[in-house]
Amino acid sequence: MKTAIATVSIAGDLGEKLAAIAAAGFDGVEIFENDFLAFDASPREVGKMVRDHGLEISLFQPFRDFEGMPEPQRTRAFDRAERKFDLMNELDVDLVVVCSNVSAISLGGIDRAAADFSELGERAAKRGLRIGYEALAWGRHVSDHRDAWEIVRRADRANVGLILDSFHTLARKIDPDTIRSIPGDRIFFVQLADAPKIDMDLLYWSRHFRNMPGEGDLDVAGFMRAVAATGYDGVISLEIFNDQFRGGSAKAISIDGHRSLVYLMDQLKRAEPDIRIDVPAMPDRIAAHGVEFVEFAANDTEAAELSAMLRTLGFTRVGRHVAKQVELWRQGGINIVINTERQGFAHSAYVMHGTSVCNIGLRVDDAHATVERARALGAELFEQHVGPGELHIPAIRGVGGGLVHFIDAKSDLARVWDIEFVPVADDTQSCDAGLKRIDHMAQTMDGKEMLTWQLFYTAIFDMAKTPMVDVIDPSGLVQSRAIEAPDGALRVTLNGVENRRTLAGHFLAESFGSTVQHLAFETDDIFATAEALIANGFTPLVISPNYYDDLDARFGLDEDFLDRLQSVSILYDRDGDAEYFQLYSPLYGEGFFFEIVERRGGYGGYGAANAQFRTAAQKRHMRPKGMPKR
Ligand code: MG
Ligand code: MG
Repeated sequence: MKTAIATVSIAGDLGEKLAAIAAAGFDGVEIFENDFLAFDASPREVGKMVRDHGLEISLFQPFRDFEGMPEPQRTRAFDRAERKFDLMNELDVDLVVVCSNVSAISLGGIDRAAADFSELGERAAKRGLRIGYEALAWGRHVSDHRDAWEIVRRADRANVGLILDSFHTLARKIDPDTIRSIPGDRIFFVQLADAPKIDMDLLYWSRHFRNMPGEGDLDVAGFMRAVAATGYDGVISLEIFNDQFRGGSAKAISIDGHRSLVYLMDQLKRAEPDIRIDVPAMPDRIAAHGVEFVEFAANDTEAAELSAMLRTLGFTRVGRHVAKQVELWRQGGINIVINTERQGFAHSAYVMHGTSVCNIGLRVDDAHATVERARALGAELFEQHVGPGELHIPAIRGVGGGLVHFIDAKSDLARVWDIEFVPVADDTQSCDAGLKRIDHMAQTMDGKEMLTWQLFYTAIFDMAKTPMVDVIDPSGLVQSRAIEAPDGALRVTLNGVENRRTLAGHFLAESFGSTVQHLAFETDDIFATAEALIANGFTPLVISPNYYDDLDARFGLDEDFLDRLQSVSILYDRDGDAEYFQLYSPLYGEGFFFEIVERRGGYGGYGAANAQFRTAAQKRHMRPKGMPKR
């Protein structure tokens, strides 16, 4: 499999783009003409620069408004093509994409277009060049790959072929299986792009909202299966027009792009075992069985505050690390680790972000296989000196720089608590509050990074994304989406910050990109848990009485039940017969908090309708602007 990406997909000048594309592992680039025109170097120099990066120019793009023109525009179109052929010869690229004509003066007719391509092919052949024809979804006369193929077929030139672009086919809801009948050797190039399902003008949708395969809602995998069935084994290229990507980090977007292609082709190989697909062998997507531990980095003072809060939540300090200043707190199946070391990764994380989650341990079947898959998908492995008596626990860096460790039951790893920790007798007993497991982790990030995180989780793990929801903060919008294992054993909510004045934005700014903003613990009995918490001295986040009036209006709740909810500030949601209960801690530090949830009757959401009331209550508790920190 040869991979490429169009230069228009990422930020920077041509030199910066090429460096990022090469570093991400692509084999080639589509040179977007404007990127070339805006760059101050001759075509020969640009060609050399591309090759010096170890890349090839897979395609020159685009040539527009060519076929079906009346005279004198027809002659001019051919003259224009000859000029581009000169340029292509100097760049040393042999394939150009001709997009279907959008000009109002262009004339229809399959034979007329075929005759134009036949002549263009003849001229290109003299220069050793090839022509690829692509149907734009908004083309004036040709907007369907089947028509483009018919034109190519009738043009009947060996150097005139078809270019397919998943966006144009899928956005128009054309069945991708219609590609299967096209001979693979007549397909010259394949461009892939996904997009979120938005009902809007096709051109605008395409130019601003495309994203990497797997990041959107289009069936790019089904499209690619049809392409593979034709025997096509040429370049698979990303042509992504996206405003955020063009304003983002060229390096990060290139890595996402390459990851999306490797992920797509790996899944394709599994779906179509009879087709030869050249993609590195790796374990299949990893089943994640839950969160084994969450580790906080802290200094001594803040560790004491955090410990006090854990105690009110019903946690007990049960262990101390054999060699490090690391404590283990536990309740039910939840392990919280507090690391106050003055060296190593946790300390660097503390210096950078303040008290924050720096490391997450996930339960998997095979920790080494997990790291192997992550590595094949471009994740960065993490190694730190392992002291005497310590286990080597396989780990990678998460996208935000925090660590993800993997614990499996097949090795010694699951015994980490017995091996690396000595039991301690906790002096002050708090009352167990019935918290069983981590229901979800909420990670906060810049809105531009949301797709990166989403792709990271869904490519490595057997997890799927849920639809995006808008969470209304008094100061703006936060976009939220969950990534879930099929059995719910691991749930991560991603919150994308657009605006620093929102609670999530404040947290992100003050913690310098720390990512876990809240941890939600699961209980089987929210009312018993609330009682135990209050006995432990826990003060729940107080929710406005207006919320309970509205709740009553929405669901028509029993008065006693409503009183019970309000007396301990529990938020409530219902979906059919399924019910959800939420209880929040006050804010800790610059916006971190704990949540306690109970799911009844298979409730699958996260109480999105409640999020704005919770956020408003939390913001009332934040320190006023201009006040010193703590
Ligand atoms: Mg295209
Ligand atoms: Mg939550």
